[in-house]
Amino acid sequence: MKTTRTTCPYCGVGCGVVVQQDAAGVISVKGDELHPANLGRLCSKGSALAETIEHPDRLLYPEVNDERVDWDTATTAVAEKFQQVIAEHGPEAVAFYVSGQLLTEDYYVANKLMKGYIGVANIDTNSRLCMASAVAAHKRAFGEDLVPCSYEDLEAAELIVLLGSNAAWCHPVLYQRIVAAKEANPQLKVVLIDPRRTQTADIADLHLPLAPGSDAFLFNGLLAHLADHGHSANDFFKDHTQGAEQAVQAAREQSGSIAITAQQCGLNESAVAKFFTLFAATEKVVSVFSQGVNQSSSGADKGNALINCHLLTGRIGQAGTGPFSFTGQPNAMGGREVGGLANQLAAHRDIENPEHQQQVQQFWQSPRIASKQGLKAVDLFDAMHAGKIKAVWIMATNPAVSLPDSQLVREALSKCECVIVSDCVANNDTLNFADIKLPALTWGERNGTVTNSDRTISRQRPFLETPGEAKQDWEIMCGVAKKMGYTTAFHYKNAAEIFREHAALSWYGNDGKHCFDLGALTTLSEEDYDELPPLQWPVKKDCKNGKSWISAKRLFSDGQFFTENGRAKFIPIYAHMPISSPNETYPLVLNTGRVRDHWHTMTRTGITERLSGHKQEAYAEIHPTDAIARGIKSGSLVNISNELGTLCVKAEVSSDQQAGSIFVPIHWGKDFASNALVSRLITGITDPISGQPESKHATVEMSVYPASWHGFIISRQKLNTTLDKISKDFQWSVRRVKNAWLYRLTGTETTTLDRGKFIRSMFNTKNDNSNWIEYLDYARQTYRGARFNSEALDSCIFTNPIDETMPAQEWLISLLSKESLEDNERRALLTGRPAKALPETGKIVCACFNVGEKTIQNAIYSQQLRTTEEIGQCLKAGTNCGSCLPELKELLR
Ligand code: SF4
Repeated sequence: MKTTRTTCPYCGVGCGVVVQQDAAGVISVKGDELHPANLGRLCSKGSALAETIEHPDRLLYPEVNDERVDWDTATTAVAEKFQQVIAEHGPEAVAFYVSGQLLTEDYYVANKLMKGYIGVANIDTNSRLCMASAVAAHKRAFGEDLVPCSYEDLEAAELIVLLGSNAAWCHPVLYQRIVAAKEANPQLKVVLIDPRRTQTADIADLHLPLAPGSDAFLFNGLLAHLADHGHSANDFFKDHTQGAEQAVQAAREQSGSIAITAQQCGLNESAVAKFFTLFAATEKVVSVFSQGVNQSSSGADKGNALINCHLLTGRIGQAGTGPFSFTGQPNAMGGREVGGLANQLAAHRDIENPEHQQQVQQFWQSPRIASKQGLKAVDLFDAMHAGKIKAVWIMATNPAVSLPDSQLVREALSKCECVIVSDCVANNDTLNFADIKLPALTWGERNGTVTNSDRTISRQRPFLETPGEAKQDWEIMCGVAKKMGYTTAFHYKNAAEIFREHAALSWYGNDGKHCFDLGALTTLSEEDYDELPPLQWPVKKDCKNGKSWISAKRLFSDGQFFTENGRAKFIPIYAHMPISSPNETYPLVLNTGRVRDHWHTMTRTGITERLSGHKQEAYAEIHPTDAIARGIKSGSLVNISNELGTLCVKAEVSSDQQAGSIFVPIHWGKDFASNALVSRLITGITDPISGQPESKHATVEMSVYPASWHGFIISRQKLNTTLDKISKDFQWSVRRVKNAWLYRLTGTETTTLDRGKFIRSMFNTKNDNSNWIEYLDYARQTYRGARFNSEALDSCIFTNPIDETMPAQEWLISLLSKESLEDNERRALLTGRPAKALPETGKIVCACFNVGEKTIQNAIYSQQLRTTEEIGQCLKAGTNCGSCLPELKELLR
């Protein structure tokens, strides 16, 4: 058995994963008990990693204009295009758009090439969409982008405030750590501040469903309350901070009483008073903030409003205290270390500081150095749309799905003279625009480091063969850099060499001025790098103690910050609500976010049956009042529109949603649904300080989709779904099921005959042995068809009028595992009634053990189950990663 210790490629928790490979090559994964982030736990996504290794649609060879070429041709094409654009239009006309999925070593090389050799800062990253506001808040308060806490502080706290964070779904292992901490210490209180009653509310002693976007008013109110009721830590803030008076004054002017704050936040006074009293009375407070705070036109201010409260009370730098930004992406922090954002230099140096510019340029011995900020993500694509960016290199990200105003982004990509995309998959929404495609390695193949939310650097180690001609991103970039004439600066033998250089730059000229310091790692041998244990930075020169490193669990314990005078800064906050407010035409607020079992644009999680069974398609969570007012029923399709476009997704009516607000997840792009891309409705409004888009807030209206028929296709192959262009009144959504893909279809056309022909045309039937059996009932508007390859069922199609129920899908999926069908089974395909009924399991709730909602409900009723433990004993559900426990509790309720 071959064992590899590595790190999960999904969220910013950064869980350690142990991968085991038996003699037959079968791979299994489990949580690494030695990793400090997860201590052996994994969530549903991490647990299913082994199922995502065999990707059916890998990009394996370089392509130029859709023709396969060798690497020499591809890197020459990229280098020549960049050189030509720079010669004709200047270096500002080229850009990199990179990703929090890149490893630190890849990120380091990208940043060095753009800022030190091309000489401008037009490199930004999808991390801009995730935590740029937290970065700005940290920098303003602490002088540097620093997360003070450790995950251990969650266990040491007496109060955990979760602000704009659905940790149960977005940081599930940290949520599980909080659950365990609460069990171990019943005194630990949890306050959830979120407009929605999310799954995280399950552990909350108090939930404040504040008005969307009003967070800074609440924390201004708290600051004024703390100051006015004798809860300031006078010694701390007098000795170690500056600007308290102005910040408290601003807070008093705006939100000077509980009554005013409650009114500003749409909360009742007693709930606000309870929160303020709890915060004031508890010494050990950790305040977690995440995308709900960051993705706002005032995200940086919201972060500072929260940090102000910690500075006033001195609740920072000690065990169980501090403001704690939970990062979304696996290497968002690693990207920040190397200067992956357009407004940073490498190693936490400031881009507009001449001394820092000189330091970095000297260290790199580079011909140039970027001396002003480059274009941040939204501005970058706006500039591309305006024709100012002529060549862009996109790495490991899918901006056509993830950036706001996706229609504008797509137009920008189609206008751009040359779009270069490095990715591990052959197809996604962004690759459709690529002139040059470069095959990159992915998780399990690449080698390097990532840094998680609590500053822990962990190794991603390879355990798979390199597929096709794919290369690691840094190797691809070095190939291009050398073709551009930068031979020696990009001559790396391996990832360890890049890491050593990155560590050395963090130490170069540092002299304790910058907290980010990997001085002790500058001389790592290749063996040391291979064996590097998870390590929290800073790891200074004197931090090696024999064979082990001493790294910093928490920052600011000595009250020293990284501002010019060593004092933390209070920032006076003048809170404001989101830029766009509901109006007569668009009266609803659209909120966006993640679901439990999918990651980003689903290129990895969307290929597994296990992770596709929980939330089976894109949906909108709608409050009953808003649904009733528009005649919308749960399970039907709704159109959601604003001035930017229209989506069509399934309605989920739920009182967990606030009246007047709807929630739509971010994941479903054109590969998985005809029209569910929520970023299409998000405007390009950004925070003026951080440049982060206001992705949590748009204004919309919705209406019933006027469906006349519905149906589904179960097919072993993916189908030609560009057919949605053929019929604009036809909506589809696809998910992975056992041995097949399941397409949900809904349309407004009424002609049954055309419908069968139209659907069959989605199959590639040329030159194969397939044969069809079909049933058509004009009068009842019903069509059924089944496609066979030899004796085995290949696919089946069922459509009915919208008010008629559809056949059970479990039965049909089970037929795909048979080599041939009995006569009665063939007949059953045409009647739509199973020859032998199978129990319905319902949508998957427990992804680890594949247990469906109906199975759980039946067990609860038939066996009188009363607790999640009893469900676990009966069905195993909830006994592995625990991600489904909030839903099990909901089912019990
Ligand atoms: Fe991966 Fe889940 Fe851990 Fe995030 S919480 S790193 S997705 S296993």
